[in-house]
Amino acid sequence: MYQKIDVQFECDCGEFIEETVDAPYPDFSAEKTRDSVNELDQYVSCPACSVEHTLTVMVSFNDASCYRGECIEVMCDLPYDPDREAEEITWAIEKNEQPETFRFHMNNVCKILDLDATVECEFSLNVMVHGYLIAAIESYLSTTFIFFVTSHKELMSKLITTDPVFAKKNIKYKDLIVEYENLKVTVASYLNDLIFHKIDKVHLLYKNVLGIDIEDIGWLYRAISIRHDCAHRAGYSKDGKPVEISKKSLFELKGNLERLVDTVQANVYNVVPNTKSVDDSPFI
Ligand SMILES: [Zn+2]
Repeated sequence: MYQKIDVQFECDCGEFIEETVDAPYPDFSAEKTRDSVNELDQYVSCPACSVEHTLTVMVSFNDASCYRGECIEVMCDLPYDPDREAEEITWAIEKNEQPETFRFHMNNVCKILDLDATVECEFSLNVMVHGYLIAAIESYLSTTFIFFVTSHKELMSKLITTDPVFAKKNIKYKDLIVEYENLKVTVASYLNDLIFHKIDKVHLLYKNVLGIDIEDIGWLYRAISIRHDCAHRAGYSKDGKPVEISKKSLFELKGNLERLVDTVQANVYNVVPNTKSVDDSPFI
C-alpha cells in the first residue's frame, strides 16, 4: 500500500517534468522520527528525450524528500492519500451547503464561548476556537469556490484558459476523452491544493474568476498568521510569547468572517444566476 506524492524536476535535456509517483508510508512502528524513514524507488520517463529517471522517495513521520540518481534533490510536496483526497474533492464538487455549514460552525462558536471556563483553561479554549474559526472560513472559501467553478462551464473555461498551470499542460490525443471526463475532478483537485496552500492568494482567485471583490481582508491574513501559532505551538509564538487572543478578539473575528461570507453570498449568484436564487441565501 502506497500513498502518492507530486514531484517536479528538470531533465538534463531541459524538459521540466511534473509527475505524481508512489510514496511509501513512514514506518509507523518507529519510536523516533529519524527511525521512521521508509524509501521507495520510482521510475519516470522524460516525455521529450525518453530517458528514464530513477527517483528515490523518502518519507518520515513529518517530512518527505526525493532524490534523482545519487544525490540530486527533486522538488516534492508532502505525500497524500489519493482515496481520501478523491472523497474530499467529490464532496466539494457536489455539495452546495457551504453557507449553512459555516453558520453551523459560527453558532457552535457562540455556544463554546458561553461556557464557563476556568481562568487556566480559558487561554487554551480561545486558542482552539481561533483555529476552529479559521478552519471554518478556509473550508467555506475553498468549497464555495470549487463548487461554483466546477458547476459552471464558463467559469471552468475561464480558469483553464487563463491559469498558467493549465495553459502549459500537454495532453496526448489518446488520453483526451479520459481527461475530458475527469476535468471537474482535475480542476477541483488543483483548486483544493491551491487554496489550502496559498490562502493568502484567495482574494485574487475570487476577483479574477468570480469577479467578487474581497480585497479588504488584511484582518483575515493577520488572523491566519495567529492560527499558525495556535496550530503549531498551541498558542505561543516562536519566541515563546502567548498569542493575543481573547473572547473579545474572537467575537470580532467571528463578526468579520460572517460579513465576508455575506459579501460572497450576496455576489456569487450574480456571477452565476442560474444556480440558486439570491433569496435562498440565509445570509441576506
Ligand atoms: Zn529529457
